[in-house]
Amino acid sequence: MDIYDVVIIGAGPAGLTAAMYAERQGLRVLVLDNIEKQPLLAEADIVDNYPGVKQISGVELLKIMRSQVESPIKAEKVISIKNGDRAKFIVKTDSGEYHAKTIILATGATHRKANIPGEEEFVGRGVSYCVICDGPLFKGKHTVVIGGGDSAVKGALYLMNMGAADVKLIHRRDELRASKFWADKIKESGIEIIWNTIPKEIKGDKTVKKIVLMNVKTKEKTELEVDGIFMEIGSTPSSELGRKIGVETDERGFFKTNKNKETNIEGVYAAGDVSDTPLRQIVTACSDGAIAATSAYNYLKSEKSKGHDDGQDSSKKE
Ligand SMILES: Cc1cc2nc3c(=O)[nH]c(=O)nc-3n(C[C@H](O)[C@H](O)[C@H](O)COP(=O)(O)OP(=O)(O)OC[C@H]3O[C@@H](n4cnc5c(N)ncnc54)[C@H](O)[C@@H]3O)c2cc1C
Repeated sequence: MDIYDVVIIGAGPAGLTAAMYAERQGLRVLVLDNIEKQPLLAEADIVDNYPGVKQISGVELLKIMRSQVESPIKAEKVISIKNGDRAKFIVKTDSGEYHAKTIILATGATHRKANIPGEEEFVGRGVSYCVICDGPLFKGKHTVVIGGGDSAVKGALYLMNMGAADVKLIHRRDELRASKFWADKIKESGIEIIWNTIPKEIKGDKTVKKIVLMNVKTKEKTELEVDGIFMEIGSTPSSELGRKIGVETDERGFFKTNKNKETNIEGVYAAGDVSDTPLRQIVTACSDGAIAATSAYNYLKSEKSKGHDDGQDSSKKE
């Protein structure tokens, strides 16, 4: 039986860094990544806060990170994790099954939905969660971005620079959550910010035509004619796999980890956006990945892991 020392689920910055560190410790590593859902990093138009690189696109940065990994990265979606007999874990994917001594969960997060009438109906027909992916379709069109963080601000600036006829930023508070750098940029850009306002409904026929907004202070509702609505209101952790094997989460569904990125389950680690990290960025995802891989290595070398040893020294690469 082929047993990996560590199976890493997710090939975003957290998973790829974990792979780099684990393989350099001599561990036998497999990375599994769901191609249906690209890493969030691929959606970043400009990354200018990753140390060592002045400015780079998310896609380009991911390409470099992947090139630094020598272990196999398989495009397979993990369906379940089960406890094994000889190996500690059995990881089932849409096209295979793998045995692992340890698991690193680096499954990231998905975009949070506003859960308003019309949102689901018009996804792909004017409602989008990815400015970089869908923004170019809205050249010369009227657009709004919902949100007040860095992603929302950057999205609005991207749409303006790309040639949208009009861009408005809709934010539920009277102050942006974005960093000062990006908050200043949007103020300089002249993009209109509609403060204290939330979306209530999306209307249209074949495509989006209007968005209904509500001022949270006055409760007054208004309608805005619009072609494209970009939701940039945060993220929801992709933590189902771990939850099913009993990995504890916080109240928002992010995996609880200690400073070594260990979860409550022996041999299971969580890294990056899916974990309860205080900052969800590339640099912290990479840091988490490095720590998780080192913890997996220390565990494999310790007596604790020996209960599931298959007798072979598979902690060395073949
Ligand atoms: C528009 C945008 C702009 C951003 N800009 C910046 C920026 O400028 N600077 C910065 O530091 N951060 C930025 N971020 C945040 C940054 O991209 C994330 O913090 C980072 O990508 C998190 O890395 P991760 O590895 O934890 O998760 P991800 O990058 O999301 O990777 C998770 C991976 O896990 C895979 N996966 C999930 N479930 C499964 C499964 N069941 N089986 C197999 N694979 C699975 C997914 O397919 C995905 O490939 C931005 C985010 C967005 C959306």
